[in-house]
This record gives sequence, structure tokens and C-alpha cells, in this order.
Amino acid sequence: MSKHKTNGKKIRQLSIYIHIPFCKSKCNYCSFYSIPILKSENNLLPKDYADLLKKEIEITIERFALSGSHINSIYFGGGTPSIMQVQFFQNLLWFINKNFLIAKTAEITVEINPESGSFNKLSGLKSLGVNRLSIGAQSFNGNVLKTAGRIHNEKDIYNAANNAKKAGFDNISLDLIIGLPGQTETIFYDDIMQTLALEPRHISAYMLSIEKNTKFYKTCNEKNKKNRLTFISEENTAKYYEILCKLLVENGYIHYEISNFAKNGHESRHNLNYWKRGQYLGLGPSASSFLKTEDGKEIRKTNVPDLDKYANNVLKKPVHKPETDFMEILTEKDKINEEIFLSLRTNLGINAKRLTELVNPDIINSFIEEGLMQIKGNGNIALTLKGMLLSSEIFARIMA
Ligand code: SF4
Repeated sequence: MSKHKTNGKKIRQLSIYIHIPFCKSKCNYCSFYSIPILKSENNLLPKDYADLLKKEIEITIERFALSGSHINSIYFGGGTPSIMQVQFFQNLLWFINKNFLIAKTAEITVEINPESGSFNKLSGLKSLGVNRLSIGAQSFNGNVLKTAGRIHNEKDIYNAANNAKKAGFDNISLDLIIGLPGQTETIFYDDIMQTLALEPRHISAYMLSIEKNTKFYKTCNEKNKKNRLTFISEENTAKYYEILCKLLVENGYIHYEISNFAKNGHESRHNLNYWKRGQYLGLGPSASSFLKTEDGKEIRKTNVPDLDKYANNVLKKPVHKPETDFMEILTEKDKINEEIFLSLRTNLGINAKRLTELVNPDIINSFIEEGLMQIKGNGNIALTLKGMLLSSEIFARIMA
């Protein structure tokens, strides 16, 4: 529990993530839980979804004694939050405000897909107090977007970004994917240049990873060679990542986490809370929470990734085969591992003395000798650029 106190009572500091599990269609690389809009067994419509989330808030407040928590950030992610109507956000934000204490300075983010970023929608969100937008551009090349199964084009990205600015948003983030099929070095360079031209305050860039339950995975394993897509090699994806890091830093962005870059003061407070192991409440199917109980336990909980099963759980419906949410109480070893891996994701790193208490100093020294870790001026140890590229291997070696 946080050490903040008011009238002698501890106030829990919390972030809220709200998962919107609806999309117009499924992108070929996507492994997030989402369903085509209106495709639910129980015919659950997005307009009913706010009621489910409100019910989940009530249940969770009671179960984990969250009443009166201080909310520092709210993040609507998905799925495609921008296909929801403005009234949906109004309804939810009103309910959150009624049950918690939203900080005056809270960061409130909504993810926007370019094709659904109309001026009316974005100005509606602005009027509700939403102060940050994250636009899923992914690439500016029409063919690359089409192969990835995205339904927007380059013009939609420009329209959404311009609508956001016209609606009064100053804090805009753009998402890119590194290593999409068809993304040659020239195309990727152009993606970076077009991103910079829009002057977003924040940029997230994730390397394509082919997950099992995606259309790309099926394409990779396609028996008929003619139907197989050509994917960018790991070597080239690494090269693109290095080009991106260099160009963004040259253009004044701080590389503050493996995949995230921001102008000074525009780091995502919501994500920083994850990496600092702050508490958060995840609402909706597939959403995860990290909460601390009054007796000092740390709990990770993930809701069932299925809208109908989630609805049954929230409404406590008697069903033939109930599926419960995943929940675990962290062991001391879990806590230490999280502390190491989450701190090392960021440019701040981890206190050198603390790291050598947790990990064999010989291993840390070998990482430093190999140029994967560096000692910073403040006495912390952080990953180098090479280390960020090889972070999964580094974490595996620490765990071995
Ligand atoms: S990438 Fe985003 S828009 Fe595409 S299917 Fe996944 S959640 Fe939906």
C-alpha cells in the first residue's frame, strides 16, 4: 500500500486500465483479445458493455477494499476504443469519479485507430477531460498496412492527428510496428520521417512478434510456399530498431523504455506506473490487475479473455462450465524478478548495489563487458541499446 496519508488514513494510489474488446476487423498480427463488433454469443452490444464494467468496478472495490483510491491515470485500450461513442466514455468516467478520487492532474488516455478519429469524436473526448491520445499508425505505407490487415491508410493517420490537434490535444502518441512484411528499409525510414513530421510528443515502436493465434502465424506455417508471406529477418528488424532509436534521439526524443520515446515530460505516466510496480486495476475481458492487500500480499489477476465468459463472471450467472479469472499471489522470488526486469526496461535502470544483491555480480559484470549493460552517472545500472535489443536473452540468462 502506498505511503500517502490523509487524516492518518492511507490512500491507495492506483491506475485504471479499461479494455475495449471490439474491433471492426482483426489485424493479421494481432494477438490481443478482441472480437468483431456485435459478434458475441449473448448478443452483448457495446452499449451494454459500460454496465458490465461498472458492475466489475463495484465488485472489485468491495473485494480488494479499493474505495476512495486516488486515481493517477486512466487508459482506454483495446481492441478499438475509438469505435465507442463519446457517451460511453462519459458514462464510465462519471462512474469512476463517483467511486474513486481522480487526481486533478490524472493522465487520461484513449487509443485511437486512425479511421475512427473524427473531429467530433475527438473534441467530445477532450470535453470529458481526456488529455492524451495514442494513435495506432503502425506504418504510413498503404501496401504494408494492407498486408498487415489494417483498415486505414496514410491519409487517415494525417486526418486523425490533425483532428486531434484541432480538438485541442497537445499530448499525442503515435504507434509504429518495426518489421512488418513489405517494410523495406526505405519504407521504414519514410515511416519514421512521416511520424516526425506530425510532431507527436510520444512514440511507441514495437518489433513485430509472430504470436500463435494470429493470421501471420498461419501464413508462416503455410504448407504451400506460394501463399507464404516474406517476413523481415531478425537481423534487419534489429537494424531498423537501431535506425529508429538514432533518429528519434537526434530529434529530441528521450528513449525512456525499450519501445518508448518521449519529448521531455511527456513520458506515459500510465506505463511508467507498470514499470515502477505501482498498483493498477484492469477492467474488461483479458485485462490484468496488480494490487496490494492490507496484509502486504501482492496479487496479479487477469480476467478471462472472452466477453461472454467475462459477462457471466461479472453478473455471477450460473453457467454449465464457469471459467474463473486467473489470480496469483506473488512469491518473494516473483517480486524480485519483477523488480529486476521491469526496472531494466527503462532508461533509469536499477540501483547498482541493489542489482548486485539480487543477481550474481559476475553475471552483471559479464553483461557490462559485453556492452549489454552500462553504469549510469547516478550509480544505476541500465541496458545499453544493444542490451535493449537483446533484453529477452539477458532476462533469460539472469533467470538461469
Ligand atoms: S491490432 Fe488493434 S485494431 Fe487490429 S485487431 Fe488488434 S486490437 Fe483490433
